[in-house]
Amino acid sequence: MPRPFVPRHRQSHVFQACLFSITGEPRTSRSAVKAGACAGGRGGETCRLIARSARPVTLRLAVGGFQHETHSFAPRPTIFADFERPAGFPPLSRGVALIPALSGSQTALAGAMPVLEEAGATLLPLSWCLGMPAGPIEDSAFERIAAMLAADLSDALREGKVDGLYLDLHGAALTDSIPDAEGELLLRLRRILGPEVPIVISLDPHANLTAAMVEYSDGIVPYLTYPHVDKRETGATAARLLLDRIAGGKPYAKAFAQLDYWMTLSSQCTMVEPMKGVMAKRAELEKGIAALGFCFGFPYADFADCGVAFAAYAETREAAEAAAAQFLTFLNGLEERFKPDALPVAEAVALALESSRGANGPVIIADTQDNPGGGGHEDTTGLLAELVAQGASGAVLCLINDAESAAACHAAGEGATLALSLGGKSDGMPFEGEARVLRLGNGSFPLTGPMGAGNHANLGPCALVEFAPGVKVMVASRKTQAYDQAILRHLGVEPKDCPIVGLKSSVHFRADYEPIAARIIVAAAPGPVIADPSTLPFRHVRPGIRMRAGDFGGRAVG
Ligand SMILES: [Zn+2]
Repeated sequence: MPRPFVPRHRQSHVFQACLFSITGEPRTSRSAVKAGACAGGRGGETCRLIARSARPVTLRLAVGGFQHETHSFAPRPTIFADFERPAGFPPLSRGVALIPALSGSQTALAGAMPVLEEAGATLLPLSWCLGMPAGPIEDSAFERIAAMLAADLSDALREGKVDGLYLDLHGAALTDSIPDAEGELLLRLRRILGPEVPIVISLDPHANLTAAMVEYSDGIVPYLTYPHVDKRETGATAARLLLDRIAGGKPYAKAFAQLDYWMTLSSQCTMVEPMKGVMAKRAELEKGIAALGFCFGFPYADFADCGVAFAAYAETREAAEAAAAQFLTFLNGLEERFKPDALPVAEAVALALESSRGANGPVIIADTQDNPGGGGHEDTTGLLAELVAQGASGAVLCLINDAESAAACHAAGEGATLALSLGGKSDGMPFEGEARVLRLGNGSFPLTGPMGAGNHANLGPCALVEFAPGVKVMVASRKTQAYDQAILRHLGVEPKDCPIVGLKSSVHFRADYEPIAARIIVAAAPGPVIADPSTLPFRHVRPGIRMRAGDFGGRAVG
């Protein structure tokens, strides 16, 4: 249950299920910046300046970013080189090189820049970088990144006034010794800018939002989708909030809250309930206020603020607090729906067999703990072994990443039977058996699903094999998350005609498979992408936090 509202300055510790206000001088009205004209005209240096001159005044707005999702228990630390050239994202970019490097990219900053420019602003590019999810960031790497942003912001200030700052952040970064890296970064930049200059940030909703992030910025805008298909739109929304905040001339009143329970990654998918309804409620509550930024949390970060949190922004403290209180009550009422839903693999297969009888469409089993998008090697065989053991004839598994076995199948040819020691290269547990080669492919084909269309798969030599009693497996030479039906169609398998389809994916598969699925079951076969984070050895989370939603029995954390 929510605690009573307590002003931030009277709080002295970390809050549990807390709801409190961070008060600035509340604004009294709000208006949009229109090509340099300030419609609000009340208070604030920028507005007074514009009103006095009665001529368009160009806003000077600094932009930059820093992105990392830190998994405290990942085996590999994150070093500075990881931010220099991340696969599939723009490289570390600084100064004038930032704008061409980021323009048009799948990033929030790419969505923010055109909105700011259309408002007549002069962009002051600082630096931007992203590191792929991994272990804690080395302190030295974070210090270099923070120093670049601080130095570039200082340079911009030396050249003239800075009217605002937009940052494209992730929100779940930890370093070896700083548990809230974004909060620390914002504090440092706030000290450079001073208390008056507006700072608005966009976030990945996997952010573990902290009081410091809310306190040192003027607004947060997380993506609204998972799978994340709205990064640029989010950047544009954040840019409009920054312009709005500048035009208003005064900070919004803020209310920040943290939940007492965690949401597993698989339960955070916004395409399905309960999260679909949560996002609808968020949108409804936001209608009456300036913004309601909601972060689902990344439940693999071992620090006190790990978890679900949100911040409401409004013209008045009462309005911000009312929206936050309503949202908190709504979320608390749904806790049971966020219980970890992954079943032990034997139960998952038994349930799939039962559910597939007479079903109108395939039963999908998500092999979530070997999701290559979460760090899996896509070659664990626990689900395959269970499908075979329970006689799941007609079931198909997409896919096992094993170039050696794919090559052996190609050497044997279609129709051949051979002994395979399939997969298990990452954990030493291959599946041994006689396999019949049904179909071969070169792994090169266009993807067709909502997340893949426009991209081309390049999986190397592929094979469809069958183990008695009729369990089919797609074998590929490279790993790829199984989120597109085109992957199975490449080898002649039509997913909607299969009774059971096993997929190496946690959430992204839903975009293409949800429409044809009779049922979706999440299975916890042995693998590195732990579905239930409460089983990990956390030491620093808040006392009393329910790492398994709905687990009111409590679990000692020490
Ligand atoms: Zn994310």
